[in-house]
Amino acid sequence: MQFEIVTIFPDFFAGPLDYGIVRRAREARIADVRVHDLRAFAHDRHRTVDDRPFGGGEGMVLKPEPLFEAVESLLGREVLFGAHMDGDSNDDASLHPAGTRHAVPLPSEETPIAQAGTAIVLLSASGKLFRQETARRLAQLDRIILLCGRYEGVDERVTEHLATDELSIGDYVLSGGELGAALILDAVTRLLPGALGNEDSTINESFSAVDDVSNKADFSTSHQSPVASHLLLDYPHYTRPAEFRGCTVPEVLLGGNHEEIRKWRQKKALEKTKRNRPDLLSGNIPT
Ligand code: SAM
Repeated sequence: MQFEIVTIFPDFFAGPLDYGIVRRAREARIADVRVHDLRAFAHDRHRTVDDRPFGGGEGMVLKPEPLFEAVESLLGREVLFGAHMDGDSNDDASLHPAGTRHAVPLPSEETPIAQAGTAIVLLSASGKLFRQETARRLAQLDRIILLCGRYEGVDERVTEHLATDELSIGDYVLSGGELGAALILDAVTRLLPGALGNEDSTINESFSAVDDVSNKADFSTSHQSPVASHLLLDYPHYTRPAEFRGCTVPEVLLGGNHEEIRKWRQKKALEKTKRNRPDLLSGNIPT
């Protein structure tokens, strides 16, 4: 997997990439990460990447040109707005400078620069929520380009004509997209084949899909009707010592009966999901 991060703070990533699974995946060449300074794609004397918002209002907005140029340089192609919408397949289309054609909003997966196997992800508080399911989808790709916003955000033409995905990492506003990019990189990397010592770790963990919670063994207090595709949180984990400050590990985990342990873990996973994330059991998980 090739990760490309476009940011005005390239040094930000020195820490998050150098620990644990991400570091090992990079060393094993399972994941390769390149960080690009957005200012390198600004051509004025001051390397300007932002400007005041049209229509007035607070703060500054990241300009489209450096972001388009950064992605174009990574993909080796120029973005032509609307060229494909005209049915204009002759070579003259490529003679038009980017941005001079009529801009037609496109569904994100059909941005003119979209390439099979590559996602161009814009980090955005108003994007679709990044979930474990999103991480699984992205982990199937060859390359992910992560565009980090700053200030009041990013010129909307980047969302409409460049990004294949506009993703939010949660319902809160951060000061920049860098933390989100590091988060997505981590969540995707640990799903890559060979990144974890034990591949099963990514199957039996939080946000794994189960078909029918009412079938979950021995959960007699469950009033859930059988509905397909719920997500469960992880079950509780314990390690030595078996007794810590008078608090003991559940007996069933010490007994060695694997079927009993499996049932107990399912029951506890369901209890915890009901307590902490009942929304996951509603069957209405947004995609
Ligand atoms: N004006 C924007 C709004 O109200 O939605 C917030 C802009 S925020 C201060 C600056 C940048 O931080 C965004 O362009 C985005 O890249 C990043 N960002 C902030 N919150 C985020 C979130 N929840 N998920 C992903 N990126 C986020």
